[in-house]
Amino acid sequence: MNRLAELVYYWSPIWLQNRIISAYGRRLVAQRYGEPYWSERTRLLRKDYGDRAGEDAAQLDGVRDIIAHAIAASAFYRDLYAGMDVSVDTVSDLAKFPVVDKEQLRADIERVYTIPVEQGIHLFTGGTTGKSLEVVYTPEDFQKRMAYLDAFKIRCGIDPFKSRKATFSGRSFAKGVFQGKRRIFWRDNTAYNQRLYSTFDLTERNIPAYLADLDRYQPDVLNGFVSALHQLASHVLREGIRPGFRPKAIFTTSETLLPHHREAIQAAFGAHIYDQYGSAEGATFVTECLEGNLHYNIDTGVIESADFGQGPEMLITSFTTHGTPLIRYRIGDRIVFRDGTCSCGSAHPLVERIEGRAVDYLYSADRGRVSLSHLADVIKGLPNCVKEMQFQQDGLDEIRILLVVDEELYAASAEETIKSAMRYRFGDGMRFSIEKVPAIPREASGKFALIKNRIPADQLAGMGLN
Ligand SMILES: [Zn+2]
Repeated sequence: MNRLAELVYYWSPIWLQNRIISAYGRRLVAQRYGEPYWSERTRLLRKDYGDRAGEDAAQLDGVRDIIAHAIAASAFYRDLYAGMDVSVDTVSDLAKFPVVDKEQLRADIERVYTIPVEQGIHLFTGGTTGKSLEVVYTPEDFQKRMAYLDAFKIRCGIDPFKSRKATFSGRSFAKGVFQGKRRIFWRDNTAYNQRLYSTFDLTERNIPAYLADLDRYQPDVLNGFVSALHQLASHVLREGIRPGFRPKAIFTTSETLLPHHREAIQAAFGAHIYDQYGSAEGATFVTECLEGNLHYNIDTGVIESADFGQGPEMLITSFTTHGTPLIRYRIGDRIVFRDGTCSCGSAHPLVERIEGRAVDYLYSADRGRVSLSHLADVIKGLPNCVKEMQFQQDGLDEIRILLVVDEELYAASAEETIKSAMRYRFGDGMRFSIEKVPAIPREASGKFALIKNRIPADQLAGMGLN
């Protein structure tokens, strides 16, 4: 929406806001679900994912196509590859091309684009680490990406058009808008059979209103940020609530899904989570199958693992970014592959897990980097009087832990439990301070940050940790 439309929207009553959102929704539907979407979706649903040779051949074609396209249409890549042998005989030939990172692309983004910006569809990627990169898609690529995601959902038993969707993803539309005395934290996009729930207003106090509305709405699908769904789920489990709705599937996105998130969300809502990676980043997709395994979707791009001195990092080459070619792009996330085959029938390689970015780590002078998944174990062992927590680190000698607690259940002994679990992971040289707070604010993106790492880069670099 542009500024004027936003202003009009904010000053409108809810019924009109719903109409504005649905009108906007109809525009999005037209933009996203045209002929390229339908033909790609049909092709994908008929495709044999078990044909490894066929999939490998498709991947090689994809690499050749995006390299040739980048050289022909992007001044940035033409210069970058000038004088190189750009022939590609196998996918591993990609290794001879230079790596690009976000800063490099951002600094020269106008020369990276292959189409006039106004002709494309824009998405901002990787907003977690300061400035984000604006990726411009060709309308056709954008529709193909939608088709890929929808084919994935259809394989999980959900037709995205026919299902009633409750979506929690970084929107705020409830500000100052009341219906009678009640604040309404959701809006309807009837064009897509979807109710959008604000993640910014999702606080302990408001959660009962959200749950009551989900009971009324009876969604077939829950979609959205891991943190938002986890927050709802924790409340449900803690309070012993039986939700009056039963989704058929849950699709999480945008944030790392940790084991304790999955456990809580599935237990609270009685449905399986199908996780996926890549949709928000313009990247190669990684999607979960019916057997509960993550697959690296080699028909959507290439994922290489490279070490720049701090453990393996992902390099992605995407086949659906002709507007803004991403070739050997250092996206900042980490991936762990797994050997073996999957009984679901797909020949796409298995992924053990995907880990977040550098900002998703805490650091200790003794132990180096401690990841989100290690902290997840701290959280898992906590008494259930702790509703929310955030780890903040400004220097290498202290970690602040913010807690939102249930005062009735809270006992000071919980602090000792947390501190000893933290000492076990960070060593005795680290100080821990615990602060009880009434609430932990969401990020500007609407996501919840479990970790706020604000250690100056030069301090980390000085220790060889950045
Ligand atoms: Zn599988």
